[in-house]
Amino acid sequence: MSLFRIENLTYRYGDNTAPALDIPHLVIEEGGIVCLTGANGSGKSTLLSLLAGLLRPTSGRIHYRGDDLTGGPRNLLERMRLDMGVCLQSPYLFRTTVEKNVAFGLTARGVQGVKKTRRTESALRDVGLVDFGKRPYHALSGGEIQRVALARALALDPRVLLLDEPMANVDAATRLLLERILEKLIRTRGITIIISTHDVDQALRLGRHIITLHEGHVVESGLENIFHGSVRKARDGWYFDTGLCRFFVPHQKEDARTAIIPPETILLSLDPMETSARNVLRGKVTGIRMRSGSVEVAVRAGEEFRSRITETSLERLGLRLGMDLYLLIKAEAVRLY
Ligand code: ADP
Ligand code: MG
Repeated sequence: MSLFRIENLTYRYGDNTAPALDIPHLVIEEGGIVCLTGANGSGKSTLLSLLAGLLRPTSGRIHYRGDDLTGGPRNLLERMRLDMGVCLQSPYLFRTTVEKNVAFGLTARGVQGVKKTRRTESALRDVGLVDFGKRPYHALSGGEIQRVALARALALDPRVLLLDEPMANVDAATRLLLERILEKLIRTRGITIIISTHDVDQALRLGRHIITLHEGHVVESGLENIFHGSVRKARDGWYFDTGLCRFFVPHQKEDARTAIIPPETILLSLDPMETSARNVLRGKVTGIRMRSGSVEVAVRAGEEFRSRITETSLERLGLRLGMDLYLLIKAEAVRLY
């Protein structure tokens, strides 16, 4: 059973505004780290708030572990909220000690005595702040504040942890530390962590499932080959111009600003062979990376393109860094947004 299943979801912040989110279908499975990526304003926080049950959809359905949260009885939503640990983008700490901040949710739920102390300590241990219990809230760095907020959510023993850009305002060392903490939580507690980040490398490093949002839509292809530019008309068809390169596109959506090319649709060739592909771009290999089950080849042809090929193709082509080759891309493979 899926953790979340979204059907025909829209969310609008006002009656006459365009939807901040419009997701026809999305499934999130249980376990591991799920990364939500996308530029500012793409809808990451809105989606997290909907998943946390803090916002109600304007239309459509969200199923949590098979139960329809949107059409179901209210107590279902309340029960679901008990499973969620939520850390919003700028965590707010109460003007008291770290310990009391972490115990806050437990106190609110009537957990008292030894049980409260034990769960508070265990949460502080999980985030590496076991000796910080008595510190006042104002004697903490930005990264420590994030970790206290994380401990506060963990103390409630959530099944799902929703984190909104927890790494946005911390230094590189803290970011690595937080990443390690999250990975350990996955191993030791077996929970699902859904985290938003605009750091693409981080998403690739952490995420079992990467969901990319663009202007409220889920982009299908993942993170590779997302280009910004505009659609233009030439005598022989419509093309997309990024400023650094151009390629033919299907002719709908003249006002598109983003073009996405799924990496498995980009073919590599050593000669500019006769092909039905409309786009034949000459480029240079800039990266070869083994992935599970496939090889990712980066090619600079004005922009950097990423192609996914098999190991057999890698050998057959004899690819090396710095080698010149051709990218073959069908116009129909380009998705416009
Ligand atoms: P992200 O977290 O990816 O930066 P958000 O979910 O915050 O994106 O925002 C998605 C869209 O919804 C943006 O266009 C934003 O301006 C709009 N939006 C977000 N919060 C509000 C709000 N409280 N009122 C009106 N519009 C909002
Ligand atoms: Mg946000």
